[in-house]
Amino acid sequence: MKVINDIKPMQEISEFLRRSGLKIGLVPTMGFLHEGHVGLMINAKDDCDIVIASIFVNPTQFSPNEDFNQYPRDFLRDFYICKNAGVDYIFYPDATAMYGDDYKTFVNVTDISNVCEGVYRPTHFQGVTTVVLKLLNITKPHAAYFGQKDAQQSIILTKMIADLNIDVEMKIVETIREENGLAKSSRNTFLSDEDKESASILFKTLNLGKTKILENDFDDKQGLIKKLKSNIETNSPKAVLQYIAITDNKLMKDIDDIKNYKGEILISLASFFGKTRLIDNILFKK
Ligand code: AMP
Repeated sequence: MKVINDIKPMQEISEFLRRSGLKIGLVPTMGFLHEGHVGLMINAKDDCDIVIASIFVNPTQFSPNEDFNQYPRDFLRDFYICKNAGVDYIFYPDATAMYGDDYKTFVNVTDISNVCEGVYRPTHFQGVTTVVLKLLNITKPHAAYFGQKDAQQSIILTKMIADLNIDVEMKIVETIREENGLAKSSRNTFLSDEDKESASILFKTLNLGKTKILENDFDDKQGLIKKLKSNIETNSPKAVLQYIAITDNKLMKDIDDIKNYKGEILISLASFFGKTRLIDNILFKK
């Protein structure tokens, strides 16, 4: 496994691999890797000849009041996780290599970037789409692997790739969870064991929502969301919920008439536990 820090050498290696007829899979990450990231790497390894994992804590997707400086980082640990997962190249640039000091260009997927996460993190997705497009241009993959854990991110990136005719296959991989249902996340490192137990209410509540919808056991959408909120608040007083949304899985439009809706339904939510902000979702077909 090789570590590449600069853009030009990464582009040259990728170009060479492509010309050699090898299929490249890219797994973009912000590091502090866990089994969720490894799941993406294993999927990439199964489909592709060469796996490139990028590790870059992208400053443009954090707003000034967010946790960019506190975001956990441990390159040596990540190096061995990548090695064990069969990664061939780690692309590990710094912010200067990625943005220089007079950076001006951003990609924006309109509307979908402004709902749910976008309400609380208004510039977040513009940073994500921009860095992912740059990573695609640098690593030239045939396929790119993202997690269902970040459902809105996956929806927005799928739209960007379609709208901009980017020649890459988008692969979305299932969420890997702790035994109690808590979605694995680099930010879980900030949770105490007690918080981790308490935060398992998020996935339990998403499942409750799914069951209620599939069994038609609710009056209307507002009533259902209220019930889900109170399930979190009563079972986990430390949770400070930001939103629960029930939307489609293409444009993240609210589904108002859930009872008559046919197709994929996404329930997503975000909640603070102390200073740690967690997101999760459940996707199912009705
Ligand atoms: P991050 O390092 O948090 O930016 O995540 C990098 C990629 O890993 C994204 O595509 C995430 O959706 C994905 N990911 C993060 N956590 C999980 C998880 N628990 N299960 C599956 N994929 C995940």
